[in-house]
Amino acid sequence: MARRIVIANQKGGVGKTTTAVNLAASLAVMEQKVLLVDCDPQGNASSGLGFYPQDQRENVYSVLFEPKNIHKAIYETGIPFLRILPGTQNLVGAELELVDKLGREYYLKDLLMEVDGEFDYILIDCPPSLGLLTVNALCAGNELLVPLQCEYYALEGIAQLLMTYELVRKRLNQDLDILGVVLTMYDARNRLSWQVKNEVRRAFPQHLFETIIPRNVRLSEAPSFGKPVINYDIKSKGAEAYLALAQEVARSHTVGAA
Ligand code: ATP
Ligand code: MG
Repeated sequence: MARRIVIANQKGGVGKTTTAVNLAASLAVMEQKVLLVDCDPQGNASSGLGFYPQDQRENVYSVLFEPKNIHKAIYETGIPFLRILPGTQNLVGAELELVDKLGREYYLKDLLMEVDGEFDYILIDCPPSLGLLTVNALCAGNELLVPLQCEYYALEGIAQLLMTYELVRKRLNQDLDILGVVLTMYDARNRLSWQVKNEVRRAFPQHLFETIIPRNVRLSEAPSFGKPVINYDIKSKGAEAYLALAQEVARSHTVGAA
């Protein structure tokens, strides 16, 4: 069975996609079979690996209602051990189409279960909302990873995310545990980053990853080349950090709800 890791935070621009793409690539470097699932209509995780919307490939939406067809929508990425199930803008339509379907929360799970045995890790990148796509991801996963940007309002919204997590765990998916919170865009020269780190450490003593992702320009440049940072600049601080995070994830065992 794959470890199915959902990367979620309803706040926009906190580093979900950067974490999804680079953690996926770093686990693949460790020769783990990884599937990256782009569940965000923005399709950033897809374009971050060179899969662009204009190419009109099969994608999460085109197979969501026909799970037996999932293999058609899984592509090699050029990086050994890493495959992708791309996302496109028509996922917005999926959210609407799902609303009045029976068992609407479980469509992504039914889809991914078709290939669960083929991978060591399935990483799911979520959109910046707590809508039905994110709930589908939370029902499909068994571990939740929350990227948290080191900024003033970092913890705002986390309470709501944790409430959603508790509700999903209680009513929809008892298998979902918290894998951890990872701090992103950390700037050691900035006092605020340091304060946020301490605050988060206090709020999530058992769940904060030791690895902290620094603010690193290489991380923000890599997607425009359609590459994860390890294929763009392996020596960068960003590459180092995500490789360290991958090792920490590989070592970790989830410990259940906070
Ligand atoms: P959305 O909510 O829109 O899906 P997101 O949470 O997926 O956003 P990202 O797209 O990963 O966030 O990051 C937002 C922006 O910040 C991007 O331009 C990305 O390149 C940049 N970024 C992310 N992490 C870092 C970092 N550690 N250092 C520098 N830039 C970063
Ligand atoms: Mg994103």
